[in-house]
Amino acid sequence: MKIVIVGGGAGGLELATKLGNTLGRKSKADVLLLDRNHSHIWKPLLHEVASGSLNADVDAVSYRAHAHKNHFRFKLGTLCGLDRAQKTLQLEALHDEEGEEILPAREESYDLLVMAIGSVSNDFGVAGIADHCIFLDSPDQARHFHRHLVNRFIRLNRDLREGDHERRLKVAIVGAGATGVELSAELFKAREWFATYGLNNIRSEHLQVSLIEAGPRILPALAERISDAARDELSKLGVNVRTETIVQRAEHQQLVTKDGENIDADLMVWAAGVKAPEFLTQLDGLETNRANQLLVSPTLQVKDTEDIFALGDCAGCPMKGPNGEDRWVPPRAQSAHQMASLVGDNILRLLDDKPLQPFVYKDRGSLISLSHYTAVGKLMGGLARGSLNVEGRIARMAYVSLYRMHQLALHGWTRTVLMTLTDKINLIIRPRLKLH
Ligand SMILES: Cc1cc2nc3c(=O)[nH]c(=O)nc-3n(C[C@H](O)[C@H](O)[C@H](O)COP(=O)(O)OP(=O)(O)OC[C@H]3O[C@@H](n4cnc5c(N)ncnc54)[C@H](O)[C@@H]3O)c2cc1C
Repeated sequence: MKIVIVGGGAGGLELATKLGNTLGRKSKADVLLLDRNHSHIWKPLLHEVASGSLNADVDAVSYRAHAHKNHFRFKLGTLCGLDRAQKTLQLEALHDEEGEEILPAREESYDLLVMAIGSVSNDFGVAGIADHCIFLDSPDQARHFHRHLVNRFIRLNRDLREGDHERRLKVAIVGAGATGVELSAELFKAREWFATYGLNNIRSEHLQVSLIEAGPRILPALAERISDAARDELSKLGVNVRTETIVQRAEHQQLVTKDGENIDADLMVWAAGVKAPEFLTQLDGLETNRANQLLVSPTLQVKDTEDIFALGDCAGCPMKGPNGEDRWVPPRAQSAHQMASLVGDNILRLLDDKPLQPFVYKDRGSLISLSHYTAVGKLMGGLARGSLNVEGRIARMAYVSLYRMHQLALHGWTRTVLMTLTDKINLIIRPRLKLH
């Protein structure tokens, strides 16, 4: 039995680890993980990679090393097609930075397939976004933003030192969901650390961050009180929060709103929503929803198939909202984590000829980190019994624990404790910010 998991992200890597340590270890199945990257960074940390407060080179998990330890195989590859009758996947040819071919276009066979390829930013067809804005969909894009940020800080520091007191670094972030809000706060923390490391002409007022949201308030998924508290914190930092502002197009270093206003920016980030990759709509007739997600049955098998599962952001899994309304399971790390756990159990059940279990999404709440300043959010279930709005230190601790849970699923207790200690030590021996 050959089980192929495509996508080693928040959900896929947890699943590969679980199946490796159950089926792979006992040679009951050949578990193969395919990903287009060599290493994994937990996606909710990408805004920290963008600001530089997390060094992706240090924190990334190497797929090959992790596979070796956890009894599965890893192959580098980008999925581009599927042949359900032949049970084969098509992988794109692989090229290096100079365009030289590393591996030709290939095929990979499977007995059971799990699709876990996540999502990409949705520009909703707004003109100029893809050409002028940076997305935070992948570690490469986050590093790209970081490089630009460092260079712009260096230039700003020089201009201010040379007497150009009017110079500002302007960053415009479109979308005031978790990514936009967290990135805004991270940028001010980065400014503080850059000043510590010698770029000390730059003060808080020299960084102008505009957070632009089409809706009436930021963090619409959270209670109004919490979203107001987050807005107050951002305003205190100096973020210009602009709600009910619709971006109509992006041009070179400016956004143009529906009201005809131009918002100038040296760096522009689009974080206004996600969709599953477009090519899923052409994947050998598999059915997708409007967000390009593969429609799945309650057991997380792709609709009308028995040998293909989908999980995480690329899975269109219907559910009921609090008032009985039809919804989709939200594209979040906790959904990917819960789905990976159920797909793992269901694959084990399938191999044991037992009936498969349905997926029930449990909303554990949402937590938003405002860098090291504070955090806000809502906890659900467990100790909270219902929902509990949290702010400050408790919210910050709960936020950090989310990543630790992911590490726990990948590395087990001993290594996670060691990694937590290493992180604490690194705070002492390494710079607090990636400076290049
Ligand atoms: C900046 C940011 C902050 C976020 N903050 C939060 C948060 O605070 N809380 C929360 O719950 N969620 C948050 N999210 C959302 C969360 O990260 C996603 O919901 C989650 O990562 C989805 O997991 P996944 O396994 O479906 O996909 P991903 O984690 O995105 O993994 C997909 C994997 O598939 C690989 N891949 C993609 N296409 C291909 C292909 N064609 N071939 C081969 N491999 C491919 C990718 O390289 C990647 O490794 C955040 C997202 C971002 C970008």
